[in-house]
Amino acid sequence: MALPPLVEPAAELSVDEIRRYSRHLIIPDVGMDGQKRLKNAKVLAVGAGGLGSPALLYLAAAGVGTLGIIDFDTVDESNLQRQVIHGVSDVGTPKAESAARSIAEINPLVNVVIHNTALDRDNVKEIFSQYDLIVDGTDNFATRYMVNDAAVLLGKPYVWGSIYRFDGQASVFWEEHGPCYRCLYPEPPPPGMVPSCAEGGVLGVLCASIGSIQVNEAIKLITGIGEPLVGRLMVYDALEMSYRKIKVRKDPNCALCGENPTVTDLLEDYEDFCGAVSVEAQEATAGSTITARELKDWQDSGKDIFLVDVREPAEWEINRIPGATLIPKGEILSGEALAKFPQDRQIVLHCKSGVRSAEALAALKTAGFKDAVHVQGGIVSWVNTVDPSLPSY
Ligand SMILES: [Zn+2]
Repeated sequence: MALPPLVEPAAELSVDEIRRYSRHLIIPDVGMDGQKRLKNAKVLAVGAGGLGSPALLYLAAAGVGTLGIIDFDTVDESNLQRQVIHGVSDVGTPKAESAARSIAEINPLVNVVIHNTALDRDNVKEIFSQYDLIVDGTDNFATRYMVNDAAVLLGKPYVWGSIYRFDGQASVFWEEHGPCYRCLYPEPPPPGMVPSCAEGGVLGVLCASIGSIQVNEAIKLITGIGEPLVGRLMVYDALEMSYRKIKVRKDPNCALCGENPTVTDLLEDYEDFCGAVSVEAQEATAGSTITARELKDWQDSGKDIFLVDVREPAEWEINRIPGATLIPKGEILSGEALAKFPQDRQIVLHCKSGVRSAEALAALKTAGFKDAVHVQGGIVSWVNTVDPSLPSY
């Protein structure tokens, strides 16, 4: 389904612009008209991370006149494996500012608007309303649902992408012409079921594969050329090197864009809607949670602890807490590893950030290990508060 251009053309291109964009101008489908539309376009990138980095670089190079960047985070060394808009000298500086500097170097004709803040229910509509199109590169479900809801409520199209290890997905959600994210995924996955890239990893170059699809779709929407990914989900498998397109229909029962919507404004709390951990895990951890510092004190006092790292072997290779035994979460949940747990020692579980260990704790308690505890914030907290000399990831 071809759609009319999203943006009206700018009045003129300068001599400099004509020189710079000549390889676009000689494509008949883009031409002077398309380049003028790009010049007039206002695009917001939500996140200057894995997807936002390549997306912003190519949106800027393509001549999108106004680029907004919203990100509250600062550049970390572990970002540089994939977030190619940032460099070594940017480590520690806000991502939005670092990205703006790179854009200025690639294309000083772009007007960059920095939103060095977290997107939340109080600012999302006001920020989105300043743009024609949103490119969503967020990595968590709470923000993803909020982006979708705000875009639908404002009638804005947005280009969505997601990445994990070797798998990527992309689509265009535009309520006026097709389904929304909630039509595709009515409910967030159960907490702890879908690991984030921070927990599960991502092949760096996958960001470029999916980020470039997002830019491609943004350019098509702005200029009105080709068939945008409205109502279609692109599924990319980097190991198979396969791209599949799956039809996605508007769901008449969608809570947001369906015939009888039950969601008529932004939710009060998206974190709550998506849930950080499951109800079982919340109940298991209540009164059974210690800090990394308390674990260290227990170890120093000679307490008889059975410390279990429930992460995966690849993570264990990166860093580990002294005295820990590796038993991945899956083996605890399946019951396979329960025989390895002693009845007469204090069991302490930890993972990277405290989500997986909470799920494992719930399974252990159900199996009868009532005194087991887990470490809040996992090994990340251990590195931050007990032993900064350990490598982090
Ligand atoms: Zn919907």
